[in-house]
Amino acid sequence: MATIDLPLLPLGKGRDLDAERGVECPGDLPAASDPDLVERARAAKATLGDRLFVLGHHYQRDEVIQFADVTGDSFKLARDAAGRPDAEFIVFCGVHFMAESADILTSPTQRVVLPDLAAGCSMADMARLRQVEDAWDAMADAGIQDSVVPVTYMNSSADIKAFCGRNGGVVCTSSNADVALDWAFAQKLAGAGKILFLPDQHLGRNTAVLQMGIALDECVVWDPRQPGGGLTADELQKARMILWKGHCSVHGRFSEDVVDELRAKHPGINILVHPECTHEVVLKADLVGSTEFIIKTIEAAEPGTVWAIGTELNLVKRLADAHPDKTIVFLDRNVCYCSTMNRIDLPHLVWALENLVAGQVVNQITVDSETEADALVALQRMLDLPGKSHRD
Ligand code: SF4
Repeated sequence: MATIDLPLLPLGKGRDLDAERGVECPGDLPAASDPDLVERARAAKATLGDRLFVLGHHYQRDEVIQFADVTGDSFKLARDAAGRPDAEFIVFCGVHFMAESADILTSPTQRVVLPDLAAGCSMADMARLRQVEDAWDAMADAGIQDSVVPVTYMNSSADIKAFCGRNGGVVCTSSNADVALDWAFAQKLAGAGKILFLPDQHLGRNTAVLQMGIALDECVVWDPRQPGGGLTADELQKARMILWKGHCSVHGRFSEDVVDELRAKHPGINILVHPECTHEVVLKADLVGSTEFIIKTIEAAEPGTVWAIGTELNLVKRLADAHPDKTIVFLDRNVCYCSTMNRIDLPHLVWALENLVAGQVVNQITVDSETEADALVALQRMLDLPGKSHRD
């Protein structure tokens, strides 16, 4: 099997059309020091009126989120975009794979704009189509491909979603991963099925072990840099979950020792984490769930309670600001923003909006029609899943 080098581009520089994060941002940006940026963004939004719909992911900066018409996680935002067929321009304040999903779920006449094309996702970049196709071929050689259902997390590029659509698989989110796994196992008879889970090994492992009752030793990790994924034929035969070796660089930072430290410092503290955290951290947490789950949990928490949250810092800071009656701390000793989410700043937003006012669509995200059709199959299978998650 060929191994593929994945050089990380310096953000915003150079071109790698195969990379999920896209290409550099063209054009002259307003200076970040321009004191009129807020007013310029307001004016451009007012001029565009109902022709414009601005989506803001929970991990975006405050300076950007203040201009969002709706906020949410990636799946909610893509659905929100699909619910506004009258909006000519969808400006997606998030990262590249999210804008792709919005393009797939909106009509061909709607244009999706990502204010900075360097806003990619390191996790999505960890599964490239050629690597996944190599793995799929290797699974055929090992005689197991017929029993494998591919499941990809929403946080993946459109061509990986399309791969799942073409090969009997499905997309999932961090809220419905358990339901998607149930569905995927049910596609194969007599419990003999296996799942290839892309690209986040932690979400796959946490869901399989903690919600589906699958044993830890039935989960193996496919390393795309190793021949045969670094697995023996025997390991592949025995596995129920084949986890792609990908992770989120933000959620992967949270560690068990900080959990221990906080519990010692704040007796009674509640540890609330996202399932992209490592299995060891999730095991030590009190509650685990998606960003929407985290927000609802904090909203419902009693005044006076103490929380440490393991997810992206922009969201944790906003929750702390919105709930001064509760003590909310970040589950890391260091400042830890998602560097690509933070690429979308006010200068890029103003630049994108003012170009739209001037009649120029910049940084449009388009998914080719073949990829879109296959990706839609996998997305539609997800939309058709029963709504109830074990986590609800
Ligand atoms: S927080 Fe993690 S999964 Fe989300 S965009 Fe950043 S790197 Fe990707």
